[in-house]
Amino acid sequence: MLLKIYQQLHAHFGPMMGAAAYRPWWPIFGPDAPFEILVGAVLVQQTRWEAVEQTVLRLLEVGLLQPAALAAVDTEQLGQLIRPVAFYRQKAPGLSAIAAHITQRYQGNTAVMLAQPLAPLRQELLALPRIGYETCDTTLLYGGQHAIFVIDEYTRRLFERVFQEQGTENEEQRVGSKGIWRQPYEKVRLRVETALRVEQKNREQRTEEQALFADFHAQINEVCVRYCLSRPRCDGPPARRVYSRQAGRDHYHGRVDGCPLRDGCGYYKRGGSEGRSPSEKPNF
Ligand code: SF4
Repeated sequence: MLLKIYQQLHAHFGPMMGAAAYRPWWPIFGPDAPFEILVGAVLVQQTRWEAVEQTVLRLLEVGLLQPAALAAVDTEQLGQLIRPVAFYRQKAPGLSAIAAHITQRYQGNTAVMLAQPLAPLRQELLALPRIGYETCDTTLLYGGQHAIFVIDEYTRRLFERVFQEQGTENEEQRVGSKGIWRQPYEKVRLRVETALRVEQKNREQRTEEQALFADFHAQINEVCVRYCLSRPRCDGPPARRVYSRQAGRDHYHGRVDGCPLRDGCGYYKRGGSEGRSPSEKPNF
């Protein structure tokens, strides 16, 4: 079932991690991609990507998008530099401590740090300041090419809506008043990874696991940015948000065919939470 969702998204949006002009999906501007991804993953907490990208470019411009330089800069000054992002006062000392860790333990080489085996590396990252599960796994997946699925608010919201029917009909899938997609991070991650592994086994053509997880997460992000917003735009038009300066990012704006998941979406089939087609609601 999850693979079907992935295939529908992939068929609609195209591969997110390929070689087209605006790809890979996670835009990289400087020479140290693993460190840039780690910094971006911290900056994006509670923050729109537009502000993150602006901040990453600023750090790059002043020579701070490298561990040794970032560890050495005064945290007050760093706070001012990253001011467009939320919680910049807390994120500045956090980033400084992360950069110092990489500088002292790995001679500033983030790729070497991320090349370690997944389980101990994950524990090491989770012990650093400002790194929770989502930030950690985003870094592992995109910065270290580890096969781990990232669970974020978009993932929870999308699956909650798509599987709405099953969630309400099967009591085993309910957890008190919360649905299964609102369970703690690790439970949801393991649920998704296990389901994808089982579904992959039954396919003749399997996609390499890390590539599948990375592209699927990007596809989820895209459908949630375009259609499955807090007030969904199931029948379109898609939101015209351009969230990266990478060339080609506005390629999607002409599409008029609506969310590709409508056929199998429980929320859509139920006519939305108000008992009518979400398309009847004013979405924007
Ligand atoms: S059909 Fe509507 S509710 Fe369902 S996934 Fe698409 S945008 Fe979200």
